[in-house]
Amino acid sequence: MTRLAQTAGLNDIQQEILSTVRDFVDKEIIPVATQLEHRDEYPTEIVEGLKELGLFGLMIPEEYGGLGESLLTYALCVEEIARGWMSVSGIINTHFIVAYMLKQHGTQEQKDTFLPRMALGEVRGAFSMSEPALGSDVSAITSKGVRDGDEYVLNGQKMWLTNGGTSSLVAVLCRSDEGHPEGTAPHKSMTTFLVEKEPGFGEVRPGLTIPGKIDKMGYKGVDTTELIMDGLRIPANRVLGGTTGRGFYQMMDGVEVGRVNVAARGCGVAQRAFELGVSYAQQRHTFGKPIAQHQAIQFKLAEMATKVEAAHAMMVNAARKKDSGERNDLEAGMAKYLASEYCKEVVEDAFRIHGGYGFSKEYEIERLYREAPMLLIGEGTAEIQKMIIGRRLLEEYRFQG
Ligand SMILES: Cc1cc2nc3c(=O)[nH]c(=O)nc-3n(C[C@H](O)[C@H](O)[C@H](O)COP(=O)(O)OP(=O)(O)OC[C@H]3O[C@@H](n4cnc5c(N)ncnc54)[C@H](O)[C@@H]3O)c2cc1C
Repeated sequence: MTRLAQTAGLNDIQQEILSTVRDFVDKEIIPVATQLEHRDEYPTEIVEGLKELGLFGLMIPEEYGGLGESLLTYALCVEEIARGWMSVSGIINTHFIVAYMLKQHGTQEQKDTFLPRMALGEVRGAFSMSEPALGSDVSAITSKGVRDGDEYVLNGQKMWLTNGGTSSLVAVLCRSDEGHPEGTAPHKSMTTFLVEKEPGFGEVRPGLTIPGKIDKMGYKGVDTTELIMDGLRIPANRVLGGTTGRGFYQMMDGVEVGRVNVAARGCGVAQRAFELGVSYAQQRHTFGKPIAQHQAIQFKLAEMATKVEAAHAMMVNAARKKDSGERNDLEAGMAKYLASEYCKEVVEDAFRIHGGYGFSKEYEIERLYREAPMLLIGEGTAEIQKMIIGRRLLEEYRFQG
């Protein structure tokens, strides 16, 4: 399927990377994705393949052993991977966000320690803001880090860690009162701690427990967990960037590129749904002709393809804006909002085109139908995107009367 979601102006290296990833997705991911997903099985072989392709280091600078590629290249790879299986893009995403935060905000020692091993996929990243009582309202975080000599002692419970079990480095956002007296604005009294741990479940480090996987309706294969800190001791040099009170900004920077990534996932899942719908519509006959020949179905296909194109264009625009060094929160928010909503709609239309068979686990669309809703929530819900978009629009279009 080559007609839709084309990207003009890519250089030779970008085209080569994308064609390699597309090939990998078609040969190694699509044929096994649904089976693995139904078994909720971690895609170990696929992850090994991604490591060999260098995808864990795609955006990590070359001096640290990565490929030093742009956000656009990364997002286009994610789009391809999500076309194959969204869970696989989830495995890379939190790793990518942590690597990005280290690159942008880490001390030299932190970069030297983690980025080369992250580029190889030996150290794998997860990031943790959400808690049982909060997701959208990050300022309400209650997990706390308190200084004790050369260490910080962390206490609190975190929720919804993508790759919580398989990761070995978690960027954890906590409140830290050191130097930030009572009454300091919440976003100025938060710190990102770089927490190293063994992969796995149970007590993975003294004071740190990862209970089992959360059982989810979709987005299976990739592990999503809680994280419990009970007197977890972290050396002071594992404060991201070396200074407390910067955590909120660091995380929001990470989430902003994460939003382009979620938009790219929405594009990939929508493309796959379109491919499945347009193929089925030409095979299934009703009233003496393929259902694709009924105008109602053609209209559905037209709407689906238009949404695939629009979402792709907005996602590419948001990535290019960030790559050019400009602020892209407006574009990233719009792309994430539109791509995730369109993804849900395109998947729903492809599901309807399949008639009763869409409800059968034998058909791939059944899996996509359970996966698409996650994109409406992750990296900020639609309501949160609209809050960001609205605020930015009022900044840009300030009434001058
Ligand atoms: C599968 C999965 C993986 C995840 N992975 C991670 C991860 O790796 N790391 C991490 O930190 N988090 C992760 N999350 C958490 C995710 O970011 C949150 O679920 C999300 O931000 C929403 O927060 P919430 O679930 O607490 O909903 P709430 O914030 O409680 O929101 C509930 C509803 O109220 C709406 N709402 C909230 N505030 C407002 C407002 N001011 N105005 C209007 N409407 C509002 C929301 O849009 C939503 O519809 C993951 C979640 C899922 C489901």
